[in-house]
Amino acid sequence: MSYLPDPEVLAVPQAPEPVKAPEIPNAIEARALRKVYRASNGQPAKEALKSIDLAIPKGSIFGLLGPNGAGKSTFINILAGLVMKTSGDVSIWGFDIDVNPRMARASIGIVPQELTIDPFFTPFEALELQAGLYGVPKKERRTMEILDAMGLADKARAYARTLSGGMRRRLLVAKAMVHNPPVIVLDEPTAGVDVELRRQLWDYVKGLNDRGTTIVLTTHYLEEAQELCDRIAIINHGEVVTNEPTSQLLARLSDKQLVIRAARPITSLPGGLDDLKPELRRDGQLALHYSPKDSPVPAVLARLAALGIEVVDLTTEESTLEDVFLQLTAG
Ligand code: ADP
Repeated sequence: MSYLPDPEVLAVPQAPEPVKAPEIPNAIEARALRKVYRASNGQPAKEALKSIDLAIPKGSIFGLLGPNGAGKSTFINILAGLVMKTSGDVSIWGFDIDVNPRMARASIGIVPQELTIDPFFTPFEALELQAGLYGVPKKERRTMEILDAMGLADKARAYARTLSGGMRRRLLVAKAMVHNPPVIVLDEPTAGVDVELRRQLWDYVKGLNDRGTTIVLTTHYLEEAQELCDRIAIINHGEVVTNEPTSQLLARLSDKQLVIRAARPITSLPGGLDDLKPELRRDGQLALHYSPKDSPVPAVLARLAALGIEVVDLTTEESTLEDVFLQLTAG
């Protein structure tokens, strides 16, 4: 989401001290975090975050999902120091953003959603400039190493305006890494990126995580969250509606579909199956919704047999994150 910055924008980054890793389990912690945007230009005040509690474990790839306007950008911008919270506490890598803002800022790298790149700088210069902003001493800079890791080494001296969309995206990731933060936030990293490059970015994110970086990812692509994230929080209307391991989230939706093909095509819905929400498919197949816990497949098949339906083939369809998401954010 893009919008004008909050009027209460914090100062620009300052020189970090080296980031020590305090003994804490969570890379990011928010407690009773609330944000109310003030009324302005005839717009009423808006409570974008309603006292949320959120813990992002160290070492995870954490997905932050939610429909438009849910409050995801507000949360990320508070972490980035671009939006001031109304109340509550936030710590990044164990550093409270109020008590120790410099260390908190030094512990996080944010990859913005927009492909904003200064066309007159080469990737090398862009990274050097960013390192300067973060106060990384010249001898500690890893400009070429990072460009190399992002597959941009051969473009180090090219004008940024000659870079493709995918290269620009990777340059933004590179910029977020110059101060070597233990936490990286990727805001919609693959929005508008083609399928092949999306895969490449996923591999890269996994690689970063394997090497110990905690990743926070917002995404619209549920498939992306399902593929990458080990834990997912869903935000809706400024509230965290769920925060759990991806596998658990998927298992929570007990409803599965069983699609059967009968010896004779089914032309009308058989009675007595209402609890299984039967649907007649155009090809004469019958889809039934069942919960493995309450009505295991053999029980469903026995009921069909009792109705004189001879099943010759069947498939089951797993619920996807999409189903869970729609269920949790419905209404
Ligand atoms: P998301 O990133 O999940 O789409 P946002 O955090 O951008 O959600 O927005 C949450 C709510 O706060 C929305 O209703 C949005 O209109 C409102 N909002 C966001 N930024 C501002 C702002 N600068 N001023 C006023 N309202 C805002």
